[in-house]
Amino acid sequence: MDDAVRLESLTKTYGSGDSVTVALREIELSLPRGSFTAIMGPSGSGKSTLLQCAAGLDRPTSGRVFIDGTDIVGLSETQLTELRRESTGFIFQSFNLLPSLTAEQNVALPMRLAGRKPDRRTVQQALAQVGLENKAGSRPSQLSGGQQQRVAIARALVTRPAVLFADEPTGALDLSTGRELLETLRQLAGGPGTDPYETPAAAPAEAAAPPTTIVMVTHDPNVASYADRVLFLADGSLVGELVSPTPEAVAARMTDLAVSR
Ligand code: ADP
Repeated sequence: MDDAVRLESLTKTYGSGDSVTVALREIELSLPRGSFTAIMGPSGSGKSTLLQCAAGLDRPTSGRVFIDGTDIVGLSETQLTELRRESTGFIFQSFNLLPSLTAEQNVALPMRLAGRKPDRRTVQQALAQVGLENKAGSRPSQLSGGQQQRVAIARALVTRPAVLFADEPTGALDLSTGRELLETLRQLAGGPGTDPYETPAAAPAEAAAPPTTIVMVTHDPNVASYADRVLFLADGSLVGELVSPTPEAVAARMTDLAVSR
């Protein structure tokens, strides 16, 4: 089984009786390894809930969630915590770095939290993946916003997760820094010109790390256009997708969704 994430009939409701809200309805979704997927939809359409359930941060009401082939719905809290730590990475709009730690120490944090001695080479490699090999000793206050978000990405990647979840990762960055960051994410996911929906190409021998699978929530069509597929949510249902999206096509689809509500 090759999917990094698979959702089967995923349904999530909040509340009960008259006050029930259906946040996700019977979502079916497969995300191949090395794919870069953006999730879009109007406010309240279920984007955050989808991300939370797919990442094992929230439990679905019914249906199944597979991460890297493991059905996580039946796992105990302890098993789920372990799987999240080993198999998923997260980046947010705010970088959430610890200000008193250097870049290197921030990146090593997930290993420490897992009770492992940080392996310097792995930490260096994660920093190199985001182009920050020369900033290992810098503290967040000595780095630009874009560099801080790169440290956050390196920290998310240091455990070599099956999936990197990103929630508005460029929301706090200016336009050109945001673009550079999205280019980096695209490269991490295998780069342009690779098609995760075709037979995977053999990884180049010199590749330091395997391609990362990325799932990103955004409200910005320009940001979404960096993904290789955009999924559209409306009222908790998947209502469409665009492969190889352009900003214009994404914006047009979003306008259609807003009009049809
Ligand atoms: P989006 O991220 O697209 O804005 P959400 O996933 O946050 O959408 O929300 C989807 C729906 O679920 C909304 O109607 C929202 O009000 C509802 N919802 C989300 N979280 C909760 C919660 N903890 N309790 C009750 N309702 C919630």
